[in-house]
Amino acid sequence: TELRDLLLSRIRDVADYPQPGVMFKDITPLLADPVAFNALVDALAGLCARHAATQVVGLEARGFILAAPAAARARLGFVPVRKAGKLPGPTLAQGYALEYGTAEIEVHADAFGPGDRVIVIDDVLATGGTAEAALDLIGRTGATVVGVAMLMELTALGGRERLAPVLKGVPLDAL
Ligand code: IMP
Repeated sequence: TELRDLLLSRIRDVADYPQPGVMFKDITPLLADPVAFNALVDALAGLCARHAATQVVGLEARGFILAAPAAARARLGFVPVRKAGKLPGPTLAQGYALEYGTAEIEVHADAFGPGDRVIVIDDVLATGGTAEAALDLIGRTGATVVGVAMLMELTALGGRERLAPVLKGVPLDAL
């Protein structure tokens, strides 16, 4: 589609970053382009509306850059899911495995109330480990995840297949 072509044209491949052998998808040219960035925020806000979300979660750090303007455009609130130790209030935490080692993400324990319908936004779906941890974490708060929206999906890494058992039919959109 037109949107897809526009977005793809503004994503840069950077070889051997952050490690040799990795082809990193750099979204900074897209963020710097007012037409492409605005179209992306519109599309994300459209998904928020389509899923009747009440809250928009962004995953640190690039997810924040997309989720916050999408939330504002959709006239919804924004909730950060952060790396461990960054949120000041009482939190729920979720650990997950990385290629080397482990990581932990957190959300404020009082971020959601009963009946909240959450859409989760991040820039890139790779192996799905980050999104899986976020879905587990948000599920534990009692909120309902009604959608996951990614700018881009690296299909060869199998993230969608990994998430399927956690999503249980909840839509995963990659723009
Ligand atoms: P996953 O947990 O393997 O799915 O990796 C997804 C997370 O790593 C997301 O939070 C992304 O921001 C980040 N990530 C992985 N690969 C890339 C990339 O090529 N470009 C930008 N971010 C990436």
